[in-house]
Amino acid sequence: MGTKAKEIITMDIKKLIELLNKALADEWLAYYQYWIGAKVAQGPMRTSIVAELEIHATEELNHALLLVNRIIQLGGTPILKPQDWYTKTNCGYAAPENPNVKNILEQNIKGEQCAIDVYNKLTHETKDKDFITYNLVLQILQDEIEHEEDLQMFMQDLEILKKS
Ligand code: FE
Ligand code: FE
Ligand code: MG
Repeated sequence: MGTKAKEIITMDIKKLIELLNKALADEWLAYYQYWIGAKVAQGPMRTSIVAELEIHATEELNHALLLVNRIIQLGGTPILKPQDWYTKTNCGYAAPENPNVKNILEQNIKGEQCAIDVYNKLTHETKDKDFITYNLVLQILQDEIEHEEDLQMFMQDLEILKKS
C-alpha cells in the first residue's frame, strides 16, 4: 500500500490486520462447513437445500478472497496454515455429524448469526477510520444477512411440510 493510502487510515493497522485474519479463519471454516454439509445432507427438500448450501460455500470462499486481498494491501500476512483457522476463528466449526437437513440448517444458521455479529462489529470498528475496509466488511455483512435469511426460510418451509 502506498504511503498516502496508509496515512488516511486512522486506526491501528496491525490490530485491523489481526481482526481481518480472524474473519479469514471464519470464512474458511464456513466454506468447508457448507461444502461438506452439501455433500452429506439428507432429508426433505434436499435438492433445493443442497443447491443453496453450495452457493453459500462459494460466497464464503469469495469473502476469504476479499479479506486476503485487503490484508495483503494493508501490508499484513494472511493466515498461512490451516491450523491457525482453529486458533483464530471467532465462530468455530460445526461438523455435520447428523446429516439431517434440519440439523445442517440449524448449524449453519448459528454460524451465520455469529458472522453477522463479527461483521457488524468490524463495520463499527472501521467506520470513519478506514473507508476501504469499512466498505468491504459492509459488503460481507450484507451477504451474511442474506445467508441467514435464506436458511431461515428453508427452516420455515420444513415446518410447513411437517404440518401438511
Ligand atoms: Fe462469509
Ligand atoms: Fe455466510
Ligand atoms: Mg443464498
